[in-house]
Amino acid sequence: MRIRLCAMFAFVFFLFVAAQAQNDRVTEMAPGVFVWHGDPAQRQPANCTWVIFKDYVLVIDANFPWGAREILSKIKATTNKPIRFVFDTHYHSDHTFGNSVFTDAGASIICSEACAEELRTKGAKGFQSWNDAAYPLTGVRFEPATITFTDGMVFDDGTHRVEITKVGPGHSKGDAVAWLPKEKILVTGDLCVTWSDGNNVADADADHENWLRALDRMDKWDVKTVIPGHGAPATKGALRAQRDYLADMLAKVRAGKQSGKSADQLATEIDLSKHGNLAANKAGNATSIKAMYRKL
Ligand SMILES: [Zn+2]
Repeated sequence: MRIRLCAMFAFVFFLFVAAQAQNDRVTEMAPGVFVWHGDPAQRQPANCTWVIFKDYVLVIDANFPWGAREILSKIKATTNKPIRFVFDTHYHSDHTFGNSVFTDAGASIICSEACAEELRTKGAKGFQSWNDAAYPLTGVRFEPATITFTDGMVFDDGTHRVEITKVGPGHSKGDAVAWLPKEKILVTGDLCVTWSDGNNVADADADHENWLRALDRMDKWDVKTVIPGHGAPATKGALRAQRDYLADMLAKVRAGKQSGKSADQLATEIDLSKHGNLAANKAGNATSIKAMYRKL
């Protein structure tokens, strides 16, 4: 009897811990503003933010389909308002391949015109050539954007205001960010990350110099909280840390190339350890250094 009670207690405790872990993936950053924390271990690396307006929900970044399905259920646990818009910060797979999960739920996909063009070309190609048996793209389709903007657009119903601004090219050609001036929350997409894998700087249309300018531009805004593309939400300091890391890498790659060194040499030689967590993934740094080298 005692053993059975212990087993039952252990099971109930397990359920409790599991429920806590589930809840821990969603944080209400401000009234009506939620973030779902990405998890690279489940191949759901990108964060997702949603804002509950009076009549609808605006979602920022669609994740992969398997992430999008979970996000959808989490959004529905926070509101019964319709998910009307999904803003993709940029076209990369981990932020857009779940688009059709949201359009099937009634949403329209929004991104900058430059991002929409990247989605139709590089994005569609990546979707068609997807080849990962562990994470198949079954039950979903490639979904382009149907609402686009050149420089920006604003959602404002008096309760919330979300200003979307194209600040790219940087991480890709069409990067745009979402700024919530009332809550002083900035959703950056992959222009800023806080995880230990650094940035992917290898997009064919990445513009590393303009990326730095974009970070400088956002640094002038009255930001209190940064919700990065990947990693935990942080203070405004994340923008500066990101800038320092990328600027240092770019300067060292440029100087090394000018002195006649090869990309492989620089990938082993360049020391970015002073940037701590951002530079923790040595293999990731090497990939980025080689990608920068090719562009210079
Ligand atoms: Zn990403």
